[in-house]
Parts: sequence; C-alpha cells; structure tokens
Amino acid sequence: QEQYEVHDYDIIVIGAGGSGLRAAVEASQVPGIKVAVITKSLLGKAHTVMAEGGVAASFGNLDAPDGWETHFYDTMRSGHFINNYRMVELFAKEAPDRVLELETWGAVFDRTKEGRIMQRPFGAHSFRRLCHIGDHTGLELIRTMQYKALHSGIDVFQEVTMTKLLVHNGRVAGAFGYFREDGRFVLFRARAVVMATGGWGKIFKVTSNSWESTGDGAALAFRAGANLMDMEMVQFHPTGMVWPPGVRGILVTEGVRGEGGLLYNSEGERFMQKYDPERMELSSRDVVARSIFKEVQAGRGTPHGGAWLDISHKGPEYVKAKLPGMYEQFLTLADLDITRERFEVAPTCHYSMGGLRVDPETCATNLPGLFAAGEVACGLHGANRLGGNSLSDLLVFGRRAGLGARQYLEGASDFAPVDDAELNAEMDRVLEPFRRENGVNPYKIHERLQEIMTNHAGIMRSGPVLQEGLDKLLALKEEAQNMGIKGSRIYNPGWHAVFDVENMLLLCEGIIRSALERKESRGAHWRTDYPDELEDWQKINFVESFDGEQIRINTEPVEQMPERLAKLFTYGKAPGLVTERSAEA
Ligand code: FAD
Repeated sequence: QEQYEVHDYDIIVIGAGGSGLRAAVEASQVPGIKVAVITKSLLGKAHTVMAEGGVAASFGNLDAPDGWETHFYDTMRSGHFINNYRMVELFAKEAPDRVLELETWGAVFDRTKEGRIMQRPFGAHSFRRLCHIGDHTGLELIRTMQYKALHSGIDVFQEVTMTKLLVHNGRVAGAFGYFREDGRFVLFRARAVVMATGGWGKIFKVTSNSWESTGDGAALAFRAGANLMDMEMVQFHPTGMVWPPGVRGILVTEGVRGEGGLLYNSEGERFMQKYDPERMELSSRDVVARSIFKEVQAGRGTPHGGAWLDISHKGPEYVKAKLPGMYEQFLTLADLDITRERFEVAPTCHYSMGGLRVDPETCATNLPGLFAAGEVACGLHGANRLGGNSLSDLLVFGRRAGLGARQYLEGASDFAPVDDAELNAEMDRVLEPFRRENGVNPYKIHERLQEIMTNHAGIMRSGPVLQEGLDKLLALKEEAQNMGIKGSRIYNPGWHAVFDVENMLLLCEGIIRSALERKESRGAHWRTDYPDELEDWQKINFVESFDGEQIRINTEPVEQMPERLAKLFTYGKAPGLVTERSAEA
C-alpha cells in the first residue's frame, strides 16, 4: 500500500510565479488563515523571472495624457474586442496602484531625471507606459514578492508536481501530487485553491517559454470541471532568436523595438511600412509576427528564415544601458555584438491568451472554491495580448484571486474527508508508466505533439489543415496511453514528462477544436480560408467543458460594454490623443 503525506491549509496556491505569489500575499493578510504555495520548480525560479521588457501601468510619467481610459482602449482594441470588458476596466484602473505597492515592498524601478518611474514605449500602447528595471523586470518582481510572501508567513513547497485537483460535493477540496526529488506522494487538503500555473508554450517546437509551461493547472482544473475559454488564441511573439539552432525561440524582448530597433527584410526594406505604416515596428504583436511570416514566405527572409532587427544605430552606450540583458544574451549565446551588428529574429510561441474562465471581480472559476489568476486564466487579453500587460495582470488579478479565495472561506465548509479509494486510484495511475516497460517514450510523444501543433495550428491556419492536425492529435493521444518509463522515482525527469505530455495533449485538442470553430481571422488567430475579421464573431467567445471523455464547445456572447466605456471609442482614437479640436471634428 502506497503512503502519502497530508498537509492541511485553508488556501493553497498552485504556482509560485508572479500571480501565485501575489495571490498568496493577499490571501495571508488576515491572521489565522494558513496559506501554502506549491511549485514544481524552485522558489524564485518561475517563468515570470524571464520577463524582460516591463510592466504596463498608465502613470503618464513621460506622456501626461495617458490614463486608465487609454490603457483600457489600447487593451480592448488589441484584444480585438473579445476581451471581458470588466476585467480590462479593473486592470487598467488598478495597475498603477499595484506597481507603486511593489515599490513599497522593495522593488526599485528605473527612474526619470525627476525621480519618477521611467516608462518605455511598447507595441500598440498609445503612450510610453512600461515601467521597467533595465530588461530584467520579471526578476525584480519575483525577488520582491518572494520576500514579501516569506515575511507574510506563507509556507512554500518546492519541486512538488500536482497531478490532480480534488473535488468533494461539487467543491474543490485540495490537490494531490508528488515530490519530484524522490516521488513520494503528498495530499494538500484545502478549503480553497488558487490556480496560478502559467501557460502552455511548450506545445510548440519554437517557443520563448520555460520548461514549466506545460499547462498543468489548466488541464487539472478542466478535468475537475472548470471551464476553459478562448483556447484558439495563442500568441506568437514576433521576435525570437533564430541562430544558432540551439537558441531558436529564445525571446528578443519587444524592448529592443521599444528602444528604437528597426526591422528589415533581406532586401533591406523596412517592410512594416507596408503592413502598418502608422505604428511600424511598434504595431501589435499579431501584426508584426504575421508580417515577418509573410516576408519569409515571399522569399525575402534572412538566411535562417527570419527578419533582420537592428539597434546598432543607437550606439553602444545606449544599448548597453537600456538593454543589458539582450546585449549579454547575444554575446554569450550567439557570439554577436548587437551594439555593432544587426541580428536575425523570427516569431516564437510566447503566450496563452485562453485559459480558465474567471469572474472579473473575484477570479472565481465556475468550480466552487477554485480561483485562477495570471496566464492560466483568461478574459483580459482577448485575441491578442499587449506587451507588458501580463506582468500587471499578475499583480492586479493575483491580488484579486487571493482576496476572492479569502472571502470565499467565510462561507466554505471545513476540510473535506479523505476519499481513500480516489487517492489510491490516483497513485496507481501516476505509477502506471513504470509498469509499461516497453511503453512509448514520453519525449517522443512530446516531440510529435509539437510537430503537429507547429504544422497544423501555428501562426497560419486553415480548416482542412486544422482538421488533419486534430486527426493526428487524436491518434497520438491513443498512442500516449502507452507511455512508459524506466528507472526509479528518484529524480526521474522522464516520469515527470508523462504528466506534462498528458496535460498538453488535452489542451492542444481544446485549442484545435476552438480554432476550427472560429471561422474568421482575429488577433492571433489567422485563417487563410477566412481571412477577414467578421463582426458577428466579435460577439462570441468559445467556452469549453470536459466530461472526462469529450470536450464540448459552447458559444457564449461576449459581454457588451456599458455606455460609459463604449463612448471611449467614439472618435476612433485613444482617449488621451483626442484633443478638443479632434473631438469636435
Ligand atoms: P508562471 O510565472 O509561469 O509560474 C507558474 C508557476 O506554476 C511556476 O511556479 C511553476 O513551477 C508552477 N507549476 C506549473 N505546473 C505545476 C504543477 N503541476 N504543480 C505545481 N506547480 C506547478 N510579460 C510582461 O508583461 N512583460 C514582459 O516584459 C514579459 N517578458 C517576457 C519574457 C519572456 C522570455 C517570457 C517567456 C514571457 C514574458 N512575459 C512578459 C510574459 C509573462 O512573463 C508571463 O505571462 C507571466 O510571467 C506568467 O506568470 P504566472 O504567474 O501566470 O505563471
């Protein structure tokens, strides 16, 4: 009989990225509430740590007319209006306070000469809006919140993978998993759970994402009865590294273009002129990524299939001061000095706009007791996320999720009884791959999954190609039931990969099914058989549910903005750019 450890917490937060830590801090603000953060990685080393360019908040420190209305406008417009308007409103209004709060906890942002927080321009933001710490903003954010969390009396469990969300009488009752170092099992009984496990960029071969981004939390919650939404929306960042092959996909921050970097094709043409003459290099990510893709397809790509990005005209001093991380990254990984030379870039899978559907105010999912925040949740970014909006998302909705979970406790029952039969079945399932000695290697399945997604559901899509991808994926899913591994439970990465792959397979099916349903092009979802954005499709989201066998997709109306917000779009330009004269015209 397998044994397992038991820990009881009022609230467990699964994920120690920006959203998880912010949620945990908020959840622990009332004495007597026991909170734990669980991460399959190490504290301080979540995917958030990789964030470079900055956090978007409309202080207007450099451009006075900026304000929450313009941030709201830019976010809705870039999300192509399938965003949840209320989430966007809360977000735009609260982001500045969340950034200032970080400073009171010890984060030190770059400064203007007058001592205000410095802000840089970023794609499709109407004003200079990204607060930053050089190009290592995520590191400072995590460092600050990690200390704040530890000083708030939160317990942290590191290198623990959760494999199952437990539900009792229709309410979330905790989570079950194992310690990665030796495979011993662990049960966390909880009265509320916050899911903060990030995205699923690892479904693509070329990605900027870290190894943790395998969509575990979304898949666990989906299996337990929570709904997913907007799964067809996967963001490709226009600028990933291209060369040498081993670094393909690693992010080149949008900060490079924000600081003046220019894009050229192999003929030396600044091709963004053709695709978005107004915003050029600082157009939205979906547009720039598609433009590079089209240039390569037309035979005007760089030697290794991308575009040239050049910031050398800014001079070594400026580049090294503003983009120290990028300078180092190219020097060490590609033996290339970006202060002197141009470099190749190409689109890389970067962000999951879809995810768990949540209530804007509390971040509650449809499953009582389950809350979600950060990249695993959905609604804020619509069909395309703006750069910098993720870090402020983590702060605003991490806080709201922690608060939501805390308030939920007031009406929640005590710990649910342990269902031994359920836990035995889960331990049996998790150990099953060891019994399949001649089973399929999980890494091989992962590789083929990435191939299918890249070839059938990537940056360019069409009905027949998506359908073929779905057929291949379902066949792969069958094969994956026979994934097997050798060795013991001690530090066995192959074993961990089995669960990553199972989670990704489920989410990929959801992505392709939603992509087939959305018969138009919108934001990150580009279909060559339906190349236009259509008004009728602006009115709906696709919501997915799972009964353990089949994924079902329902269309639900996008909530329409009330007049007070709709009027911000009256003049067809950002509110901060509407002068009295242009308002009259
Ligand atoms: P994550 O930071 O991804 O954390 C997820 C946590 O969940 C981790 O602790 C992980 O270990 C844990 N976890 C996952 N599965 C399990 C499991 N089964 N059991 C237990 N724990 C689990 N956004 C911006 O706004 N500005 C930027 O400048 C910016 N730059 C970026 C640069 C790069 C290179 C990348 C890749 C992204 C960037 N982003 C940026 C996006 C942003 O960093 C992410 O969207 C954000 O950090 C996600 O945070 P999160 O809290 O949702 O999850």
